[in-house]
Amino acid sequence: MKAIVVGGGIGGLAAAVSLRRVGWEVQVLERAAAFGEIGAGVGVMPNAMRALEWMGLDDEIRRLGTPRVSGGVRADDGRWLVHLPDVGQEKVIAMHRADLHGVLLRALPPEVLFTGVEVTGADDLDADLVVAADGIHSRLRAELLPDAPGPVYAGATAWRGVAPGPYELPISQTLGPGGEAGILPLGDGRVCWYVAKVAPARADLDPVALFADWHDPLPELVRTTADVIRHDIYELPLLPTFVKGRVALLGDAAHAMTPYLGQGACMALEDAVTLALCNGDLARYDALRRPRTQSVWKGSKRAGRLGIEMRSPIALALRNFALRAVPPSLAIQGMTRFSAWEVPQVHSNGSNPVVN
Ligand SMILES: Cc1cc2nc3c(=O)[nH]c(=O)nc-3n(C[C@H](O)[C@H](O)[C@H](O)COP(=O)(O)OP(=O)(O)OC[C@H]3O[C@@H](n4cnc5c(N)ncnc54)[C@H](O)[C@@H]3O)c2cc1C
Repeated sequence: MKAIVVGGGIGGLAAAVSLRRVGWEVQVLERAAAFGEIGAGVGVMPNAMRALEWMGLDDEIRRLGTPRVSGGVRADDGRWLVHLPDVGQEKVIAMHRADLHGVLLRALPPEVLFTGVEVTGADDLDADLVVAADGIHSRLRAELLPDAPGPVYAGATAWRGVAPGPYELPISQTLGPGGEAGILPLGDGRVCWYVAKVAPARADLDPVALFADWHDPLPELVRTTADVIRHDIYELPLLPTFVKGRVALLGDAAHAMTPYLGQGACMALEDAVTLALCNGDLARYDALRRPRTQSVWKGSKRAGRLGIEMRSPIALALRNFALRAVPPSLAIQGMTRFSAWEVPQVHSNGSNPVVN
């Protein structure tokens, strides 16, 4: 069986690795002139780690990433609202995105990887399965589901980068009026960070000025980063299906969500493993992935409402009071709620494999 994967981001490469693992012949077609990822961080959550374990890549991820256990949520003046010591919760692996992408890329033989190929439709692709992993603005999705709404602006703009450091910092998220920030320290002293602010799309804003009075070292991280990447945040309204004919949507092409739970790329890794285990049964893939990803999508939206979107001083004071009152065990439960995913099991039902 042959699959063509359109898009060589984290989702597309993970799909190619996973499908090859169950015996599919695979080609990856990437529009860009070279495979690559942006200079920013990614937290590999425990659910994503289970997907990477299934792909046989967990050792390399642990080698290149840094397990982070202590940390929590802070107010913009630096006060801890939720402070979690290492209490044995599952770890988030902090990584540079290029490292995660590189691990997936190296797991594929060069002869299956094609760059400079822009796919505009699925009809001419000679394959039993076409994986549309072409991102939030997916051309294949627009062709497949012409009536489905496209991405919509989620009301905030984010800036990301990797500060040279060296720093010794805990992993943290910071909530302030109409904004939020995150710190994901790498093991070598560099720090991946993001800051985001409620703003109209394409607004002319300077993150250095916007976050100048937030707690240390956020202003310095933003100021000392040479390459700051800006993204207006878009989300994809929930789709009625992820599959049509022999085409399966995967990753942001299927369920681009706001970044407030840090689960977008993690979902793409889950998709990839599930698609491979479904072994061509796309109805099953849809049944397993749509409810899961759409519930995380909604969770991320809720996190935005309770986080970045809050601006009234009274609402902020109440939220911060409530967060400080939460016992650590409950906070961990809340934070790890979306990480409780396991690789689907394949059972044999007579001669037919069943995935659940
Ligand atoms: C500000 C921000 C912060 C985030 N933080 C996190 C985080 O901490 N943790 C997390 O898990 N997720 C995070 N995410 C989400 C994460 O970045 C995405 O969910 C993930 O990168 C999606 O991967 P993908 O492979 O589906 O899509 P993409 O990374 O968009 O890859 C799509 C690929 O397809 C290629 N392509 C596009 N069109 C075509 C075509 N027509 N033909 C051929 N190739 C094509 C593109 O060049 C690209 O390489 C964040 C997102 C944002 C915006």
